[in-house]
Amino acid sequence: MSEPRRSRLIVLAGPTAVGKGTVAAEVRRHHPEVWLSVSATTRDPRPGEENGVHYWFVSDDDFDAMIERGDLLEWATVHGTHRYGTPRGPVELALASGHPAMLEIDLQGARQVRRTMPEALFVFLKPPSWEELVRRLVGRGTETAAQRERRLATAREELAAESEFDVTVVNHEVHAAADELVALMTFDQASAPARGETTTD
Ligand code: 5GP
Repeated sequence: MSEPRRSRLIVLAGPTAVGKGTVAAEVRRHHPEVWLSVSATTRDPRPGEENGVHYWFVSDDDFDAMIERGDLLEWATVHGTHRYGTPRGPVELALASGHPAMLEIDLQGARQVRRTMPEALFVFLKPPSWEELVRRLVGRGTETAAQRERRLATAREELAAESEFDVTVVNHEVHAAADELVALMTFDQASAPARGETTTD
């Protein structure tokens, strides 16, 4: 069969500062039919971030409790500092209700989901070049020099993971990358049994 494998669940991963969050926000803005997972994290909110929208901001104790209860589909310590995890229930609900769903998580998390949900489509978001990745990382300006070095080291390792993924999308430009992602989902919707509106205005 030459037809690409289909899945309602897309896992988007890629190196630090490649723009996963921006691409996910673009999908959220233009494609409300795609359900986006809201992760739990132990880090503090950045200016403009809202609890329950960008993340669920939780304490270390709360995060421990979520792990103990088995509430997380996957979780990881990212950049050696804070923990991030995907609440399991909402993902299962979204899939059960027939919505295409997307997780934007780090590589360690993507590897865990591949073990538990191998039917998902794993998409690697890649920068146009290493130089561009460094430029974007520096440009963000929200990290200290030490944090940035740590992120670069992580990014180098993460770039090497591309071959583990089903599909690569190069993030030359956010609209184009989001369109490419949605095209993967649109293919899914067009090929799956009809299920209500699938407008993509
Ligand atoms: P930031 O703190 O900049 O929002 O995110 C840092 C990193 O955490 C990003 O690479 C992002 O993909 C990752 N991340 C966000 N949510 C999750 C999650 O639920 N699980 C895992 N494993 N990584 C996550």
